[in-house]
Amino acid sequence: GPVVTVVGGGLAGSEAAWQAARMGARVRLYEMRPARPTPVHQTGLLAELVCSNSLGGAGTDTSAGLLKEEMRRLGSLVVQAADAHRVPAGSALAVDRERFASEITRKVEAHPSITVIREEVREVPEPGDGVVVLATGPLTSDALAASLARLVGDRFLAFYDAAAPIVTAESIDTDRGFWASRHGKGTPDYLNLPMDREQYEALSQALAEADVHEGHLPEELKFFEGCVPVEELARRGLDTLRYGPMRPVGLRDPRTGQMPYAVVQLRKEDAEGRLLNLVGFQTRLKWGEQARIFRMIPGLEQAEFVRFGVVHRNTFVNAPRVLEPTGQVKGHGRLLLAGLITGVEGYVESAAAGWLAGVNAARILRGLSPMVLPPETMMGALWRYVTTARPDDFQPMNAAFGLLPPAGRARSRQERRARQAERALQAVDRVAEEVERWVAELGAVAP
Ligand code: FAD
Repeated sequence: GPVVTVVGGGLAGSEAAWQAARMGARVRLYEMRPARPTPVHQTGLLAELVCSNSLGGAGTDTSAGLLKEEMRRLGSLVVQAADAHRVPAGSALAVDRERFASEITRKVEAHPSITVIREEVREVPEPGDGVVVLATGPLTSDALAASLARLVGDRFLAFYDAAAPIVTAESIDTDRGFWASRHGKGTPDYLNLPMDREQYEALSQALAEADVHEGHLPEELKFFEGCVPVEELARRGLDTLRYGPMRPVGLRDPRTGQMPYAVVQLRKEDAEGRLLNLVGFQTRLKWGEQARIFRMIPGLEQAEFVRFGVVHRNTFVNAPRVLEPTGQVKGHGRLLLAGLITGVEGYVESAAAGWLAGVNAARILRGLSPMVLPPETMMGALWRYVTTARPDDFQPMNAAFGLLPPAGRARSRQERRARQAERALQAVDRVAEEVERWVAELGAVAP
């Protein structure tokens, strides 16, 4: 009979396989490790954590914590294993990585409806009357990545992530800047934060001397000027940034009538303009350094970062062009993507995308309509973001309160978040009820 084929047994693929099986689908899960390793995985276990053993904040006052609580209520395999193998880590949920991955591996392999096949898949499988979920992650093997690029179009599959930091609009002192586009062309979509010589030189110097993440900058990136990290530009000379991303040419400060010495431009990142990105500020600086240095920019002293900048290897599609809000590939209703490859960022976010793909794969297999998550949930808001963001220079996104719709007036950030979290969990409880009903109806027909 028809089956759900999941390719990739990482965080997303394991969750997808589990959820599809829970909904009564027969599942084939392909994982190429250990026979074919990736440059970062160390074991043959499913759901291996490739770097940190932290799954982010535990409390629902943090975006990662809220996301995990939603997943917990939705019967996530990954979050259940994380809870079971938690290690002390202050306010974060960190896990014993070996036990965490071993438990997921054991459960998935023991599930009567799931067959795990240790083999590299080199082409996007034809779904036939089944459903395919691709969850091969940031290090998707070359052959499969090439096949996916042919399917979605070369232009819509990226191999590197060179992303600038994103801040919430409400945390910026916009009075310090002015809205304008360079040379007055088009609509004034950029918030320009002017800097005088002293401010500029202090920033440039701080960038040149700051602490970066370990590891080499990928060679290929050095050839794309648009991807050179901002600190690398700063190291090339005191004036380099002023002739690069911080050039003031074509911008006149309406308050002085003058061209500023240098500017930082911020551009709207989402349709509502709740998030702004620092144009050209892709960076490999450590998180703490980014917060410290970017808050030196006039107007950003209180900036709230929803995502820090990164430059690293990552295979991901241009989700706003390629994906439906259900996880289906546009024009290929029986092919779904899950995990980092969808343009989400982070362990739990990847698993969350896997949850949606697994549930929807099982529904599509039975001829039922796939679901869309409510946008007032963290999972739904993230998914809404990646499928509706500006496609032109789409970059991956992690869970963030800034993605959630506003929840009325609040006296403090704390109160606002508490309201958003409460509303998210109420919406998730309704989804969870519905899912339990589906599990009872569909799951009963298992093997
Ligand atoms: P993965 O967990 O990588 O799973 C994909 C699976 O597919 C792998 O097991 C792979 O072997 C398999 N596969 C690939 N190609 C094929 C094929 N053709 N056939 C069969 N199997 C295939 N996120 C965080 O939250 N915290 C961190 O500290 C963190 N550190 C990271 C460090 C690095 C170096 C990288 C690259 C990413 C990091 N991430 C981190 C981002 C992200 O959360 C992880 O990459 C996460 O593992 C993504 O989950 P996934 O399921 O999409 O991919």
